[in-house]
Amino acid sequence: MRLPEFVVVDDEGHRWCDLCGYPNVAAWVHPTRPLDGEYSIRPFYWLVCEECHRLVRETRRDELAERAVDVHGDGIGILDRPTRVVCARARHDDFWAAREGFSRRLTPEELRVEASS
Ligand SMILES: [Zn+2]
Repeated sequence: MRLPEFVVVDDEGHRWCDLCGYPNVAAWVHPTRPLDGEYSIRPFYWLVCEECHRLVRETRRDELAERAVDVHGDGIGILDRPTRVVCARARHDDFWAAREGFSRRLTPEELRVEASS
């Protein structure tokens, strides 16, 4: 499976978790369909770290939003924590709404390809 072009990879090839923003730990691919108004000639994917993957599997949406704030901040610094959690939750809603099919682990080959590009 070819990885999407929008995957965020920094200069050192680190993958960032699309849910919490934690760098260099994305280990799972969660397929999604395009949301309304989006168009793509191939499927979308969200890359997800181990901890977020666990929370997704257990459908723990609130804890996932809390984690995003803890890890990434998720939102402008002047916002209070409850507001930032709401922002993270709203961003994650796109993910929850678009999930489709089965998640799978990234293969070593995919990790290598991404790291060497
Ligand atoms: Zn994560």
